[in-house]
Amino acid sequence: SHALVWIRRDLRLADNPALRAALEAGHAPIFVYVHAPQEEGDWSPGAASRAWLGRSLLAFESRLVEHGASLVVLEAASDDALASLAARVGAVAVYWNRCYEPASIARDKQVKMRLRDEGLEARSFNGALLVEPWQVHTGEGGPYRVFTPFWRKASGLLADPARWTPPARLPALPDAISGHEHGPRAIEALGLGPRLDWDAGFWKRFEPGEAGAVELLDAFIEGAAGSYLEQRNLPDRAGTSRLSPHLHFGEIAPWRIVDALRRAGFPKGAQPQVDGYIRELGWREFSHHLLFHYPDTATGNLNPRFNDFDWSDAKEHAAALEAWQQGRTGVPIVDAGMRELWQTGWMHNRVRMIVASFLTKNLRLRWQHGARWFWDTLVDADLANNTQGWQWTAGTGADAAPYFRIFNPVTQAARFDTRGTYIRRWCPELADLPDKALYAPWEHEDERKLRAPSWPAQPVVDLKASREKALAAYQRTTASR
Ligand code: FAD
Repeated sequence: SHALVWIRRDLRLADNPALRAALEAGHAPIFVYVHAPQEEGDWSPGAASRAWLGRSLLAFESRLVEHGASLVVLEAASDDALASLAARVGAVAVYWNRCYEPASIARDKQVKMRLRDEGLEARSFNGALLVEPWQVHTGEGGPYRVFTPFWRKASGLLADPARWTPPARLPALPDAISGHEHGPRAIEALGLGPRLDWDAGFWKRFEPGEAGAVELLDAFIEGAAGSYLEQRNLPDRAGTSRLSPHLHFGEIAPWRIVDALRRAGFPKGAQPQVDGYIRELGWREFSHHLLFHYPDTATGNLNPRFNDFDWSDAKEHAAALEAWQQGRTGVPIVDAGMRELWQTGWMHNRVRMIVASFLTKNLRLRWQHGARWFWDTLVDADLANNTQGWQWTAGTGADAAPYFRIFNPVTQAARFDTRGTYIRRWCPELADLPDKALYAPWEHEDERKLRAPSWPAQPVVDLKASREKALAAYQRTTASR
């Protein structure tokens, strides 16, 4: 008998619980991808994510071909597409791995009901998380809102992860599937990649797909993992794993990463560094926990105090928002980050925090404007991680990261980009400035005029004055409570 394996954000064969279950139940799996971005509501994939997805689907297809199979690609409402495909090939079951965004949860529930109404077995699995959102709760039985106690509880549940390898041969597609419904041409017909190749820079840094993910993991274990805590905040080097887009698209299971790190045989002294990395994977888990239990936080503040905060008017500040998006605020570390994002589809975490603080505090624009821009430009755009990252930095989330902690982009840059390599790489106009003028060129007008004449004389906003205004606005919300 056949079972459909409905592929979504689990673009891998290894450690794929839905596939494994289908095989263990004795079914011949048929892999199917249904393109239905409208079902993701306001959060259908942005432009950078679509570009990644197109390549990842092609990589997955070549994996399948190596195993004698191929990917069926359909474009219709998910329930209709799956029900009619199952009827056509005589499948008795549909298996998939879970997603945790509010719109996907609602869609999946409805698909499950529909398939069961049609007499099919419909089952879902955990293919994405170390600990699913409902597996941990506070002493009172509610969800966590603060990371440390969440992770203390969740990390205690991490069993020895069981790895799973697919068999060398998978069944070929039945004849009922016609040539144009599967394979690379069916994937390309979805038109996911951009028409102009603005994404060229992405692929110098990343290789979408399962093989690219494993290669990166191996390189990380060989390289930066053993000094992760020392290097993770330094944006001028590959001090982090850069696995985020691979994790988002499910090209690698998080438990495979944990397993590989545990087996790597790091010297005892390096253990805290490796644990520090696993704790960072914990932030991904925590973000999913928050979004699952507080589904409104993708658009609204987790902390309701900020619902009447005195944000700047986005229309009046449209020029500043655009300068931020385009990496021309005149603040070197901010512009370097925004340009890294535009050119590579990714930005270093330390710099994400700096640019987010600048937008929400110095420009006092709502975090949602930044989250939306990231959504469209990041290859790792992920509703759970992005929402949590923005709310945390904006200070609208849990109180552990209060609003009044405002990053100073000048001292942050001097501290973490000590040699100015990162700034000079992404803002070549500044390359000839000496270090002392690099982080705040407006304080060194003679040098700027001489060596970086195209750089704005003043940033879009005065850092000190805007900081004071933000603090005053914060005082007003606290006072009114
Ligand atoms: P590593 O340091 O190697 O960490 C390993 C993995 O842990 C990451 O791949 C990621 O899956 C997870 N992780 C690490 N830090 C965090 C974190 N703070 N929150 C949640 N998960 C984390 N991450 C996304 O995956 N998608 C997003 O859309 C996203 N938006 C963000 C927006 C803002 C404003 C901020 C401050 C952070 C955001 N992050 C997001 C979190 C973090 O910046 C990235 O996960 C990280 O930079 C990815 O690089 P890496 O894989 O080299 O990370």
